[in-house]
Amino acid sequence: MTNHLFALVRESLPADPAKTFIETQDGRTYSYADLLARSGAYAAALRGLGVRPGDRVAVQVEKSAEVVFLYLGVVRAGAVFLPLNTAYTAAEIGYFLGDAEPAIFVCDPGKRDALADVAAKAGVGHMLTLDASGHGSVAEAADRAGTAEFADVERGPDDLAAILYTSGTTGRSKGAMLSHENLASNARTLRAYWRFTPDDVLIHALPVFHTHGLFVATNTVLVSGGTMLFLPRLDAKLILKLMPRATAMMGVPTFYTRLLKEPGLNREATGHMRLFVSGSAPLLAETHRAWQARTGHAILERYGMTETNMSTSNPYEGARVAGTVGLPLPGVSIRVVDPDTGRALPADTVGMIEVKGPNVFQGYWRMPEKTAAEFRADGFFITGDLGKIDPDGYVHIVGRGKDLIITGGFNVYPKEVETEIDAMPGVVESAVIGLNHPDFGEGVTAVVVPGENAPDEAAILAHLEGRLAKFKCPKRVLFAAELPRNTMGKVQKNRLREEYAGLYAG
Ligand code: AMP
Repeated sequence: MTNHLFALVRESLPADPAKTFIETQDGRTYSYADLLARSGAYAAALRGLGVRPGDRVAVQVEKSAEVVFLYLGVVRAGAVFLPLNTAYTAAEIGYFLGDAEPAIFVCDPGKRDALADVAAKAGVGHMLTLDASGHGSVAEAADRAGTAEFADVERGPDDLAAILYTSGTTGRSKGAMLSHENLASNARTLRAYWRFTPDDVLIHALPVFHTHGLFVATNTVLVSGGTMLFLPRLDAKLILKLMPRATAMMGVPTFYTRLLKEPGLNREATGHMRLFVSGSAPLLAETHRAWQARTGHAILERYGMTETNMSTSNPYEGARVAGTVGLPLPGVSIRVVDPDTGRALPADTVGMIEVKGPNVFQGYWRMPEKTAAEFRADGFFITGDLGKIDPDGYVHIVGRGKDLIITGGFNVYPKEVETEIDAMPGVVESAVIGLNHPDFGEGVTAVVVPGENAPDEAAILAHLEGRLAKFKCPKRVLFAAELPRNTMGKVQKNRLREEYAGLYAG
C-alpha cells in the first residue's frame, strides 16, 4: 500500500523537478523539488512531535506557499489536514478545536497569545506558528527535521485526508470528512475535464482554507505539473497584469464583476488565457454575457460544495450555457428529487439536488445522526440545494434550501447571526437575509423587531463584531414592527427579500 493521495502527486510530477510550482506575489518561486523536500520536512517534523495516523492538524494561517507544503506534509504523515478560515474569532476557534481535538494547532504568530487559552482548554498538544511570509515555529521545526527523504505513511483510499468545517444551519458547524480518494478522484477528473497540463499557469487569488482554493485550484494544478501565481487576495489590477503570463484563472463571481470594472479588460489583455472558471456562488447570466462580449471568452461555471468536492461542470468543448452549472462530471451521478418523498422528478422540474460518486464525503465528524439524515438509503447525498435538470442534461441551481447566504464567495447561515442578535436585550426577534449586492453577490442584512429600550443599528453591529467573523456581520440592520409569517408560523424570508430588494442598488 502507498499513501493514496500523495502517490497521485508523485506519479503526476513534471519531468523537470526544477519546474516552478508556486510563484508568490513578491517574486519568490518554489519548485516541484522544493515541494517534495518541504512537505517531507513538515511530515518528519509532525511525526517527531508525536502526530499519529488519523490525528488532526488544525491550521489558521494566512496564505503562503509554506501552508500548501504543510498541508501535503500532513497528508504524507498520514494525518488529517484541518484548515480554518482566517476570519474566525477566538470564540469560534475554541469551538472547532474542542470539536476536532487536534494534536497540533498552527496559527499566525500575531494571534498566538489571543488563542492560547482556547487551545489549552481544547487540550491541543502543541501550538505552533506560521506567518504570511512562511516563517514561524512550525517552519523551524521542518528546518530542523532535516532533508532526509521522508517515507510516506501508508494510507488507503478511504482514510481521511482532510476535515473542512461548513457553516452550521443550527449554529453548529459540521466537519466534513474527506478521504484520500474523495480528493484524488476529483483532482484527476478536473485535470482531464478542464484539460490541465504542465504548460498551465493558474492565477490563484482564492483563500487556501476553503475547498475552492485548496482542492479545486491547488490539487488540480498539483496533479497536472503546472504552475500557480499565488496572490494573497483578489486584486483586479494585478490579475490583469498577470494575464499575459497565465493560462487559467479560477474565481468566485466577485472576481469577474470586479475585473469587468477595469477599463483594461479586453480581448488583448486576456489573449494568452485559455480558461476562466467560476463557482462557489451563482454567476449572473448577465456577467457571463458581459465577459464574453469584452474578452471573447465564455466563463466555465461549475458547481460543488465542501461535502462533495466538484459535482458538475459546463463542458470544456461544447456549449457553456450561462445561468447553468453544466453537466455531471464523469463518474458523478446527479438527480433531482421531491424533497419529501425522495422520488426522482422529470426534466425541468425543480426539486432537491442529490449527488453520489467517489467525490462525496465520508460524513460529518462525530455527527453520525446528522450524517445519516443527509444520505438516502441508496447512498445519494442530499445537498440542500434546489434545482432542476433541463432536457439537455444541464443542471440549474434555482435557490438554496436552508436560506444559505453567499457573500463574496463565503457562506453565511442566517440562523447563526440571528441567534447572536436575538440574545441582545431589547430585541424581540430577527431575520437575517441575503440581498442582491453589486460587489458581494449578496449582502448580509438583518431585519430586527425592536422591543423596549431596543439597541440601534450601530449598537447591534458593535455587538456582533468580535463574536462573529467579519464576513458574517450584516452590512445593514433594518427595523420592522413585525416579521411576515405564513399560516404555519414560519417567517417568510422571501417576502422580506422582495420588500428590501433594492437596498444595495446603485
Ligand atoms: P461551499 O461548501 O462553501 O463550497 O458552498 C457550497 C454551496 O455553494 C453549494 O451548496 C451551493 O449552494 C453554492 N454553490 C457552489 N457553486 C455554485 C454555483 N456555480 N452556482 C450556484 N451556487 C453554487
